[in-house]
Parts: sequence; structure tokens; C-alpha cells
Amino acid sequence: MTTQDLTPPTDARPGDKTLGEPIVVIDGVQKYFGAHHVLKDVSLTVRRGEVVVICGRSGSGKSTLLRCVDQLETIDGGTIHAAGHLMGFREKNGKRIPLGDAQVARQQRDLGMVFQNFNLFPHISVIDNITLAPVRILKRNKAEARAEARTLLKRVGLPDKENAYPRQLSGGQQQRVAIARALAMQPKVMLFDEPTSALDPEMISEVLDVMVDLSRQGMTMIVVTHEMGFARAAADRVLLMHEGHIVEEAAPETFFNHPESEHTKLFLSKIL
Ligand code: ADP
Ligand code: MG
Repeated sequence: MTTQDLTPPTDARPGDKTLGEPIVVIDGVQKYFGAHHVLKDVSLTVRRGEVVVICGRSGSGKSTLLRCVDQLETIDGGTIHAAGHLMGFREKNGKRIPLGDAQVARQQRDLGMVFQNFNLFPHISVIDNITLAPVRILKRNKAEARAEARTLLKRVGLPDKENAYPRQLSGGQQQRVAIARALAMQPKVMLFDEPTSALDPEMISEVLDVMVDLSRQGMTMIVVTHEMGFARAAADRVLLMHEGHIVEEAAPETFFNHPESEHTKLFLSKIL
């Protein structure tokens, strides 16, 4: 937990913004790893422009939930609609038929994912990391993709790093490149899985600042993080996951100051 000041200006409280239609609808999702029941009837609706923060202790199912939304894991029950897709399936005569890899990849384009460990391609430059998918997958014109990548690098505060290789960058810089890379696909929803937990403390705020900025520009975001400063500055709702269930769901102020669930109280007593 860091204490950097992420207090939003009073005219930009997240609660004041107008949210759009549901854009991620997780309904009764079940996930098992073998006999281990990891997601237990999880339901969550996220509206366009909304920022949802998910907390919970290690092993509670947070990463698995994000990975199911992005179809990096298949689900064993329930449905996930995201960015206009029934994730992982198509419907035919009222039946759900699993999609093949290519069709899943097509759905995944509309969701941007940022991981704890950046996952940049180590052997190519920053700008190539950003333009690879737009050029190869979206068949974008290379010069245009590079121009857009430069705009994105400015947006994440790294205008002079386009020719650097990932290993030449700090963790905070690499994570900002990873965010730019995800944004280059023009996702409709961004998923962040503990984006600052692998960073040295002094680099956390530079990444969170980019994320707060993104939220202010109206991006729909689901963020697994324990950074309370980010949650207060940007979240519309904060959830607590516990053993595969969502056990608390509230506006940040209520979540942190007046939680109802004993699980939340215990969790907060450990991180605060
Ligand atoms: P969190 O992100 O909240 O720490 P995870 O979603 O990573 O939790 O994990 C939830 C549970 O599922 C844990 O008990 C974890 O060990 C288990 N798990 C996660 N991924 C796998 C996997 N690929 N195979 C088997 N078990 C897994
Ligand atoms: Mg995790």
C-alpha cells in the first residue's frame, strides 16, 4: 500500500460521471481447476466507463476471474458477455458451442490485458512491441501504427523511449509500455491484474497516474489491485473476493470506511 496523493480534484469525483450501458456481464460463472472450485457462481455487471477495483487475499480467485473474462481460461458454468461478445462461445439453435482459437482471438482483441509482470516481448523495441499486434492482427498500415504508437508513448509519459528495448527500461516504464501496447488495439475494456505489485515502491505512482488518467478519459476498467489511493481516485466500485465469491461490493468510501463483511474488515486490517 502506498500513500501517494491521488486525490482527484473535487470536480472530477468518479461517482459524478455518467455510466453507459452494461459492457461486461459476468453471470453465474463457475470455474474449477480439477476438483478445486475457484469461482463459485460469480456475477458482476460493469457499465461502459465504469472502473471496478477488485481486492482480496492471494488465492481468492481474482486473477482467474480476469483470465476468464479474457478467455485465457475457459469457464465451467455461467456466461460472460464482454464488449458485445458472448465470450468463448457462439449460440446456435439455443445451444452454446465453444469457439475455436481463432474466433476466441478475435473476441480478445476488444479487451486489453495488463499483467503483473508486463509480459513485453524482450527481443524487440518498445515501438515494435506496441505496433506488432495492430500491424499483424488488425492489418494496420505500419506508418500509421507507428504514428499512433508515438502518441500513446507520449500519453504514458515515455516519448523518448520508442527505440529502447524492454531490458533497458525500469519496471515502471515497462509497465507503461505494456499499457500503451494494450491501448494500441483500441480495446473497449481494459483488465489490469495487479499492475503495480511487481514494482519498486517509487515506481508505483507513475503507473497509477497513467491508469487514473485513462479512467478520466472514460475507459472501462476492471483492476485487481490493493492500491487504495488508486481505488479512491478512480474506482466507481470496489469489490472483495473471498474464496471464489464476491463478498462485498461498495463505493470506495463505504468499502474502506464502513465495510459490512467480516472478510473485508479482516482484509483491510491487514493491508492498511
Ligand atoms: P488470486 O489472483 O486471487 O491470488 P488466483 O485466481 O490466481 O487467485 O487463484 C485462485 C485459486 O486457483 C488458487 O488456489 C490457485 O492456486 C488456483 N489456480 C489458479 N490458476 C491455476 C491453474 N492454472 N491450475 C490450478 N490451479 C490454479
Ligand atoms: Mg492474482
